[in-house]
Amino acid sequence: MKPRVGIFDFASCEGCELQIVNLEEDVVGLVSVVDVVSFREAMKEHSDDYDIAFVEGSITRESDETRLKEIRANAKLLVAIGACATIGGINAIKNLQDIEDVKRYVYGDEAKYFETYPTRPVDAVVKVDVYVHGCPIDRDEFLGVVKALLLGKTPEIANYPVCVECKQAENVCTFEEGQFCMGPVTRAGCKATCITEGSICWGCRGFVDNPNTDAQKEILEKYGLDLKDVINKFRLYTACSETTQ
Ligand code: SF4
Ligand code: SF4
Ligand code: SF4
Repeated sequence: MKPRVGIFDFASCEGCELQIVNLEEDVVGLVSVVDVVSFREAMKEHSDDYDIAFVEGSITRESDETRLKEIRANAKLLVAIGACATIGGINAIKNLQDIEDVKRYVYGDEAKYFETYPTRPVDAVVKVDVYVHGCPIDRDEFLGVVKALLLGKTPEIANYPVCVECKQAENVCTFEEGQFCMGPVTRAGCKATCITEGSICWGCRGFVDNPNTDAQKEILEKYGLDLKDVINKFRLYTACSETTQ
């Protein structure tokens, strides 16, 4: 019997699900080892009988909680995929403003008809067994996680700063070019792809576990920065965790 897999979404742009749809030739390998029984973005069929649930998106209203708890109860393993699910993601920007103002801005006079509350990651509501970070997720990392789970192993998730991979890629540090970068405090695993492609790290994989001790201090010190400077500079992905650092 192949493990049965369900892929579900909450508040998100569905870009992480799209990464799965776009696995191209690897889709064939994937469906040869698992039975995908629910995946709204890619198929009409649906079943509540699954072993592994992959959950994309953040939790932004009370009714999300009910549905998420049902998914958790049905699954032996729950995997949060993408920044929206793992750290609240871009949706959590609204947490930095008054929620009633946000509702009025988005829904205008109809605001009272829409249910919403401050954004939370999936693990604020249910237990998460495995995290696949990124905005969007990295397809190779996703496949690596699936393979590990099928072999009964715990997937290895990087817990060191993006700077480590950035140096391995032999990039010129963006600080040298007068720019800012979240790399010193951000969890690696993306091969520093944004810097390699000429941008900066925006912090989409969330903080390393203990930025106070695990940050790339050497780079921060070299440019006269401390942890707070970096955390306060970009708030694109940090809203849910700001209060915990
Ligand atoms: S993590 Fe990024 S790509 Fe994935 S669903 Fe959220 S916003 Fe979209
Ligand atoms: S600060 Fe950014 S650019 Fe500099 S080494 Fe770290 S990840 Fe690379
Ligand atoms: S470099 Fe930073 S923003 Fe880009 S994918 Fe990696 S963690 Fe995300």
